[in-house]
Amino acid sequence: MQQKKELEVFTHPMSSEGFRKHAHQTVDFIIDYYENVLQNKDGNHPVGETISVCSKVEPGYLNKLLPNNAPEKGESFEEIIKDVKEKILPGVTHWQHPNFFAFFSANFSYPALLGDMFSGMFNVVGFNWQTSPACTELETIVMDWLAKAMHLPKCFLSETNGGGVIQDTASSAAIVVMLAAKERKRAELIQNQDQFNMPEFLGKLVAYTSEHAHSSIQKACMVTGVLNFRKIKAKKDTFEMDYKDLEENIKMDLEKGYIPFFVCATIGTTSSTAIDPIGDIGPICDKYKLFLHVDSAFLGSTLLLPECRVAFTGSEECENLKYCDSFTFNPHKWMLTSFDCSALWVKERKNLKNALSIDPEYLRNKASQSGLVTDYRDWQLPLGRRFRSLKLWFVLRVYGIEGLQRFLRYHIELAEYFEERIKSEFEIVAPRTASLVCFRYRDETWTVEKENQFNELLLHTINETGIMFFTHTVLNGKFTLRMAICGTFTTQDHVENAISLITNKKNELLKEFK
Ligand SMILES: *Cc1c(COP(=O)(O)O)cnc(C)c1O
Repeated sequence: MQQKKELEVFTHPMSSEGFRKHAHQTVDFIIDYYENVLQNKDGNHPVGETISVCSKVEPGYLNKLLPNNAPEKGESFEEIIKDVKEKILPGVTHWQHPNFFAFFSANFSYPALLGDMFSGMFNVVGFNWQTSPACTELETIVMDWLAKAMHLPKCFLSETNGGGVIQDTASSAAIVVMLAAKERKRAELIQNQDQFNMPEFLGKLVAYTSEHAHSSIQKACMVTGVLNFRKIKAKKDTFEMDYKDLEENIKMDLEKGYIPFFVCATIGTTSSTAIDPIGDIGPICDKYKLFLHVDSAFLGSTLLLPECRVAFTGSEECENLKYCDSFTFNPHKWMLTSFDCSALWVKERKNLKNALSIDPEYLRNKASQSGLVTDYRDWQLPLGRRFRSLKLWFVLRVYGIEGLQRFLRYHIELAEYFEERIKSEFEIVAPRTASLVCFRYRDETWTVEKENQFNELLLHTINETGIMFFTHTVLNGKFTLRMAICGTFTTQDHVENAISLITNKKNELLKEFK
């Protein structure tokens, strides 16, 4: 045996005391950002001058400001924070700004951030139960809580054959359910066919969604090797999927020997928050044995409200969702749970496990073998997973269902107010289902092209001010501005200012627009 020898100790550059100090500084920085910088309460930042909601930097701006190589010797935290302020902040688009009306919001809240801090503290990699029982069990519990609060059908609760899981995004959710649907169809066909031919099967699978569905559904087809993807046309007034056209397409595909297997219906499309008629699409999926996925990434939060459940799902008990095999929504969009947190429920968890489970020796353990525990690695693409349920748990506990309901209703009321105020001067291009208003300037003496040019110019002019940030969509060939009211800190004052800015800019532009 060799003699014992003391090795030189490695000391971390940031001690516990250093962390305490810098953590406090960081918390102060965060509060200053939310209270003063974004809200302009200190008066040092005339709205639109210091802070532009949408960053105005040129591509490659940061490369000019940062060194070409990582530092050889560690640097002080003060230097780093200084660079965050001076170099990073200008390149940030302020998603949490109360005047951020673009896309759909990505809600922030203090409780969610605190939950994330705990997640960061434990820093577990919870791929199976054993790696941190609390990480798995809390996730199951909060997903059940949420399903019950939204009155989702019982089949999505963990006590049944289904259950909920947190994914990073609705895009990932679409990929895993598409894999589950492929697996379900394979299992069904292999039972009835002696000569099941896998390559042939894969080439013939068809997935369907509305022309207004999110691009992530098409991407899921690309990722999972589904070669046949059909966009079903939507109705011209409501932008909901034409379910008769869906059935026609399915019939045609069957006649040609294709294998229809998957439909994605949307509750709240990204363009205009249109609601596909699940009550009509569901029976079609049943009839032809198709897997029905419902994507409600943005609007899903509103199922916490009985009136929205009635309007979007047929009844206070989400009648129409009984048809669906999976349902997803993003608490990170409009439920105060910071990005990333996408809730996915499935009716049959075995479909997911059959599609995604592998059992290498190095992950074998008693708990998993016993079959008594959930191993969420089988419900997602990666092996590793974060302790995301903590932030959701914090939000649910601090706000309570009642608090979340008031938050959602406030935004819906603001959107209703906005719509009422502008509708004499602007065309409302799509029915407002909740807090998104789709509008455009219209002049009956103009061609649609001219109207489109004007509305595009109006959008750019508003965004140029830096005071607010809007995005657009195109509906029936019409360039349409979207006012998405779902920001954590957005109040009536902000909506009022938006009304003024939009109408003023419109009037100014009209004077010079030929
Ligand atoms: C935002 C959105 C998505 C994509 O969400 P990610 O979580 O970023 O993947 C999907 N579908 C709809 C309807 C959306 O609004």
